[in-house]
Amino acid sequence: MTIVYRYGKTYYVNLTNRCPCRCVFCVRNRTDALGDAECLWLDKEPTPEEVIAELETKDLSGSDEIVFCGYGEPTERLDDLIASMRMVRSRLGKRVRLDTNGLGNLINGRDIVPELAECVDRISISLNASNAAEYLDITRSKFGIESYQAVLDFIAECRKSIQGVTVSIVGGYIPEESERKCAEIAEKYGVAFRIRRCGISLPMD
Ligand code: SF4
Repeated sequence: MTIVYRYGKTYYVNLTNRCPCRCVFCVRNRTDALGDAECLWLDKEPTPEEVIAELETKDLSGSDEIVFCGYGEPTERLDDLIASMRMVRSRLGKRVRLDTNGLGNLINGRDIVPELAECVDRISISLNASNAAEYLDITRSKFGIESYQAVLDFIAECRKSIQGVTVSIVGGYIPEESERKCAEIAEKYGVAFRIRRCGISLPMD
């Protein structure tokens, strides 16, 4: 199993395979690995110490940022995620980005943004759709129709306390009019917007 993999010039941490969604475009439906990974399906979820030990085996000299992304939703393991991100900063001296589906508050049953804001430099949030019904069609979230508003609320909270906030959609899965509305939503929330054209969901770049 692969805990840390390189995709392009960036190193990604694969913390969990758990996820509350079954997105129609999820890369996991099509391949078991990305970048230089051998297999991103985990036999066992790594501890924060194992994550750092694995990162320390890599040549990180060309990377000033480590991304927590994985083959699942990192906030499913919030405590271990936060512990790992803190160690990336303190022991490796790298910046931290989190790629998330934005459902962490529903997953954990509380507002997790204050905890994230203490250890995340940038965050990329999958918006995926322009309204709640469209979102549910695309993501098939186990949280149902409430999921979309939860993502919007999460974006708004992140905007208040995290400097680099980007929301994204995967191009080609919703109508162009919906894509335009997503861009308007990002503008309204004061965050950057990105359409991923590659048709995969993870990683972000
Ligand atoms: S794309 Fe992300 S949020 Fe959607 S099912 Fe895959 S891992 Fe989960």
